[in-house]
Amino acid sequence: MAQKILIVEDELEIIKLVRAYLERAGYRVVSATDGQEALAVFRHEHPNLVILDLNLPGMDGLDVCRALRRQSDVPIIMLTARLEETDRLIGLELGADDYIVKPFSPREVVARTRAVLRRAEGEPVTPQVIAAGEISLDIPRRRATLAGQPLDLTTMEFDLLAVLAAHPGRVFTRMQLLEQVQEDAYAGYERTIDVHIKNLRKKLGDDPHNPRFIETIRGVGYRLLEE
Ligand code: CA
Repeated sequence: MAQKILIVEDELEIIKLVRAYLERAGYRVVSATDGQEALAVFRHEHPNLVILDLNLPGMDGLDVCRALRRQSDVPIIMLTARLEETDRLIGLELGADDYIVKPFSPREVVARTRAVLRRAEGEPVTPQVIAAGEISLDIPRRRATLAGQPLDLTTMEFDLLAVLAAHPGRVFTRMQLLEQVQEDAYAGYERTIDVHIKNLRKKLGDDPHNPRFIETIRGVGYRLLEE
């Protein structure tokens, strides 16, 4: 079932815009235009995440944030009108999960929403060392070896290999891989994954036509072969 996002904002144009982008990204969206309504909608709708404007008429965003925190650990993204307010918010340690400064692009809101939800869902804790066949990745030291020989990988290649190697046999789409290794993953960049995979294969001495390690699943993405 689609995850539900509550937008609290008194500017209807912003609600409309953000709603359109979030819905296109597959989320369900509910909204409120002031603090009291926000708390009522929150109780009825049980959203998975709240996007909360700081400057609301009446009860302001800070009060709403505190009130939500008293009853829930729902992820909250605060919208602020000025960069200076961000410092204030962080100083207050209100327990918001992220901040977006206006004016923002609706795409940024979608990207942050995804990222915060992913964090909140508690991605499976990455083990310290990932071993998949002859490949071994020491995560804290960011060292990769193949059959005991060190591999010289870029940050992106290391992260990609870590994702694949943590789930041997599982197929990842390009978008899933991109989201795992890059905070601001946009569909337009999916193909960059192909370039990194190509370089990774070269370093692993892997033949894409007869792979030992990374298999291309046509029309879908990639996976690391199980032993
Ligand atoms: Ca406002």
